[in-house]
Amino acid sequence: MMYDDLNDKRVVVTGGASGIGLATARRFVKESCRVVILDRNQEALNQAQSEHSNFAGGIRADVSSPDEVEAAFEEIDHIMGGIDILVSNAGISVRKPFANIDYDQWSEVMRVNLDGMYLCSKAAIDRMKTQRSGVILFTASTSGIGASPLYADYSASKAALINLAKTIAVEYAPWLRVNAICPGYVLTPMQKAEYTAEMLAEVNASIPMRRRRRGPWPTSTPSFSSCCRAPSIVLRRIPNSLASLSPPGIAPRHVPRISSPRRCSVTCSMEDSMRKIDIKIIYRKTGVVVEV
Ligand code: NAD
Repeated sequence: MMYDDLNDKRVVVTGGASGIGLATARRFVKESCRVVILDRNQEALNQAQSEHSNFAGGIRADVSSPDEVEAAFEEIDHIMGGIDILVSNAGISVRKPFANIDYDQWSEVMRVNLDGMYLCSKAAIDRMKTQRSGVILFTASTSGIGASPLYADYSASKAALINLAKTIAVEYAPWLRVNAICPGYVLTPMQKAEYTAEMLAEVNASIPMRRRRRGPWPTSTPSFSSCCRAPSIVLRRIPNSLASLSPPGIAPRHVPRISSPRRCSVTCSMEDSMRKIDIKIIYRKTGVVVEV
């Protein structure tokens, strides 16, 4: 599904040189948006830009550095004359028992996963508020909703991020729309770096579908969330869970719950404080797809 109202929107994707960020950036290009990818990895940026020459630009910056973020957003102004959609996605994780997480690691995870989201969303809002419109999508995680052993720092950063998203959404409504997308396991370079084959098998066994998402990240999720028909909601457990989709602020009775992993679709309406929309939720083997 394509969204007419995304045409020519100016999009910035942080962590856009790899994994979920790169897939999302490519989807926005497909939706006829102008897209700048921002990443701290120059080599990955070069590769992403050479393989996908239709990005409006690629900027090397560390999202946890206030100076680098400021300079990056000035460059974005120069390239696109502003920003309509920020996908604040850059993040890191390190798999360790809580007792082995030293303060340096804890601080680094918080700096990238939380300070980086704060710095980039603040820079984006500074620009969006003059035009009185904008969308911010944070890549959070199911780890920010439930407990994920061996990821105490990561989970804490993502839980804080979800609340940051809700707070900004309430503070800047109605002209700014904010969503936190919570992927489950996606086999991106981040995960490949952390998991051995045995560890993958162990985690896969705990997923209802018994495997991680291997194919492309469901990029319909960010594009749906950023199109003007989407309400300001926090979607839960999009890729892997077949069981829950219960955005806060939306009456639970309107949200169907499916407990068995089978393909089916339901049509329902969702309401937030602003409007009512009709949506179709398709439960597939590979995950949940939302269509308006
Ligand atoms: P990835 O490692 O493939 O991509 C992350 C990108 O972010 C990399 O290109 C990296 O260079 C960049 N990056 C890291 N730190 C940065 C910094 N300080 N400044 C700028 N760029 C930086 O990982 P991914 O799996 O695509 O993860 C993307 C986001 O999705 C992260 O926020 C992650 O927490 C979240 N997430 C991933 C999964 C998963 O299973 N892969 C699940 C839930 C949430």
